[in-house]
Amino acid sequence: MDLNTVEVLSTPTRRDELWPLGHGDAILAGGTWLFSEPQPQIRRLVDITRLGWQPMTLSDNGIEFAATCTLAEVSGLSQSLPAVRPDWTAAPLFHQCCTALLASPKIWRTATIGGNICLSFPAGSMISLASALDGDLAVWRADGTRYTSPITEFVTGSATNVLQPGDILRSIFLPASALRARTGYRKLAPSPLGRSGIVVIGRRDTDDDGGRFVLSFTAATVRPYVFTFGAIPDPSEVAAAHATIPDDAWTRDAHGDPDWRRGVSLVLAQQIRSEMA
Ligand SMILES: Cc1cc2nc3c(=O)[nH]c(=O)nc-3n(C[C@H](O)[C@H](O)[C@H](O)COP(=O)(O)OP(=O)(O)OC[C@H]3O[C@@H](n4cnc5c(N)ncnc54)[C@H](O)[C@@H]3O)c2cc1C
Repeated sequence: MDLNTVEVLSTPTRRDELWPLGHGDAILAGGTWLFSEPQPQIRRLVDITRLGWQPMTLSDNGIEFAATCTLAEVSGLSQSLPAVRPDWTAAPLFHQCCTALLASPKIWRTATIGGNICLSFPAGSMISLASALDGDLAVWRADGTRYTSPITEFVTGSATNVLQPGDILRSIFLPASALRARTGYRKLAPSPLGRSGIVVIGRRDTDDDGGRFVLSFTAATVRPYVFTFGAIPDPSEVAAAHATIPDDAWTRDAHGDPDWRRGVSLVLAQQIRSEMA
């Protein structure tokens, strides 16, 4: 769709060229959402894809994704990681979470991990990924400082987050301790090619990493809910944790009723618990 109120396209190549960002300015990453609906308030687009950020950096500590890393690049890790990091057994989760955003290969090659997280939709598949793997986000402020936030605190509700005007999500870090875990994944959507209604992911850390069991609920809820247990919980502990999710946190939209999401997400969580016990 043409954004016919846009008068200027800025393409900064250095950090200090990003600001000032004011009313009527919008960060442009892949543009797959920005160009998908009218944006009458936007006068200027600031394209962050020319900043030369390395899409992803692997180290012994984990993986740092630039916000501009595409979903296709994230998905590709499921195939490439086993050869270079065979101990990172969470590798299948990258592709699985990308398929929670059902879109054409063209969208996958363009949409970015940062754009998906900044939109902060319940069905944000990169929010599901980061929630399951202890994702920590780094944000640049206009005054030259930066702050970090766990994904569970970054997303505050349906399409809301902690970003202030002028803030730019720079990167998403996933620690090696989470990448070394075994994972279990369930996704449900009302139609095979529809947006996710429920995503539940379980993670069992290695004994050397503490043996924790981590259960995350996304899409079904307006923001991520992540529960950490010292070891594999029994079914009643899973049910008790699930019951703490507030009534008004279950997503209500065309992709599923809150009651369905609440009931079925518990069934899926118990399946994952049994599978990983
Ligand atoms: C066919 C199709 C299916 C889709 N399905 C889903 C789905 O299932 N779930 C879902 O969540 N979304 C979905 N989307 C919406 C969207 O395309 C994706 O969320 C995508 O990942 C957004 O990334 P982008 O890089 O294209 O973002 P853009 O469109 O470039 O930007 C999205 C928003 O984030 C802001 N932004 C982008 N990057 C940054 C940054 N680094 N710092 C600060 N602000 C930033 C932009 O200003 C804008 O407000 C779908 C879109 C299409 C076209």
